[in-house]
Amino acid sequence: DLLFIEGRVDFQNVCFSYTAGKEILSEVSFTVMPGQTVALVGPSGSGKSTIIRLLFRFYDVQGGCILIDGQDISKVKQNSLRSYIGVVPQDTVLFNDNIRENIRYGRISASDQEVEEAAVAADIHHKILSFPDGYDTEVGERGLKLSGGEKQRVAIARTILKSPRIILLDEATSALDSQTERNIQASLAKVCANHTTLVVAHRHEELLAMGGLYAAMWLKQQQTPESEVS
Ligand code: ATP
Ligand code: MG
Repeated sequence: DLLFIEGRVDFQNVCFSYTAGKEILSEVSFTVMPGQTVALVGPSGSGKSTIIRLLFRFYDVQGGCILIDGQDISKVKQNSLRSYIGVVPQDTVLFNDNIRENIRYGRISASDQEVEEAAVAADIHHKILSFPDGYDTEVGERGLKLSGGEKQRVAIARTILKSPRIILLDEATSALDSQTERNIQASLAKVCANHTTLVVAHRHEELLAMGGLYAAMWLKQQQTPESEVS
């Protein structure tokens, strides 16, 4: 186990393909400084979600390396790595349990009150209360009673509760209407402040709403992205 204290992320010449002969990432290099928010921007299929998956070690890189605080993540125990990272994936899968435990999974020592505060911050609390069983509602793995956007908000509540050093948001607000989006962005901005954040975003307003300094990384197919700081 290794300790990540600052949360600096370095991709160094990362190469990756899902199937032989079709390289998705080719010598991709970039740095996210501790506490910085970086947006991954690029066309569909350019590898944005792949970058998120590699950082969470769903897959291992095939060339180059990914460092957190200078430590190669392929040499860190998966559990140890994942305890420092919170992910809101493109397609959130819930656990076969009730909503309360799905949120509490972010930090299992959290009290019921802390779970509800996270749900309020993620703008999902009222939706949960609208169910006859409230927080005890069983959602099942496919989250049958929740829309895509609502499932993402459960994942956001989980991440708020976990408050990890590194936050990965894969199009966290794409499935939401604009009012809900604004509400959540306000709370996400609070959560992401002082945390290293990598966010896949499609619209410029999403980036600005995250607040503060951000760097946009324009990912083009089969090319090393340029870094741009504003
Ligand atoms: P989008 O904006 O549509 O979410 P993206 O930039 O996140 O796109 P990725 O999901 O990273 O794109 O996918 C990059 C490429 O890798 C795509 O061509 C996709 O078809 C391919 N790909 C993704 N997942 C797999 C997989 N599990 N097996 C094989 N190919 C995959
Ligand atoms: Mg994607």
